[in-house]
Amino acid sequence: MTVSRAVPGSNAGRVESTGAREARRLTTTESSALELLAEVPERAGLCCDFDGTIAPMVLDPQAARALPGALAALHDIARELAVVAAISGRPAAFLADRLELESYRSLLRAIGLHGLEESFSDGTVRLRAGVSAWRPVIEAVSDQLRATLPSGVEVEDKAYGVTAHWRSIIASDTELESIAAQVTEVVRAVAAEHGLVPRPGKAMVELALPLGIDKGTVVTELCGGLERAAFLGDDAGDLFAFRALDELKVAPGLLTLKVAVGGAEVPQELVEAADLVLDGPRAAVGFLVALAARLHLS
Ligand SMILES: [Mg+2]
Repeated sequence: MTVSRAVPGSNAGRVESTGAREARRLTTTESSALELLAEVPERAGLCCDFDGTIAPMVLDPQAARALPGALAALHDIARELAVVAAISGRPAAFLADRLELESYRSLLRAIGLHGLEESFSDGTVRLRAGVSAWRPVIEAVSDQLRATLPSGVEVEDKAYGVTAHWRSIIASDTELESIAAQVTEVVRAVAAEHGLVPRPGKAMVELALPLGIDKGTVVTELCGGLERAAFLGDDAGDLFAFRALDELKVAPGLLTLKVAVGGAEVPQELVEAADLVLDGPRAAVGFLVALAARLHLS
């Protein structure tokens, strides 16, 4: 990685600017990162998360939308780079819908459930081998969690994964900490009982299948053998992708870029591991808009 580290200062009370405005005000560090990818677009890969990265965090997970400009930029970039993918914990069909794959018809890939499934522009969803057999377990676990977790905690059955969310609960910080601890304890016990893997995130804990698939293994599959590989993310699950980039860059001729999208809830470990920290989803979209513009100049 050739880009120096830049961590923005406190953003408390700061009004976020639009993606387009950010694109005209890239820092030197951001410009270097952008050039890294634009140098050899046909040998570059860019992967990014969805929630908290190109879509602001919202109380109702179903209400999440990518920021204006994000989709046009991502699809534009997907027409220039070797690989461009959104990799999320969301179901792939949700991701394909929010990324408007059917309208744009670019080569942007929508990879859901941390790599267990991929959705395509014709509406089909492809599952990895060995995933479908877990459906009865996930159904039973979802029922068990609904019966056990504190009221107000939402249990989302994602077919091949389950998420317990508490973002919509209105309570004091102390009460929320207590809810988080209770949910985490229950989820860990249920995970152990059924052989699933607990994965904590922002105001939620997920139960993942024990298949050894995560955002890191997906990044390795997609970007191994390229000359440039980048990932943009905002949460604990994105650390797998960052670690995969660290392993990939051992290969001669491969330069990597780890971008943390900051915010109040971003894990410190992700920020510390990043090459570049952007100041929230608007800045991340600004970066993508600038990259799309830069690629069109080449
Ligand atoms: Mg996220």
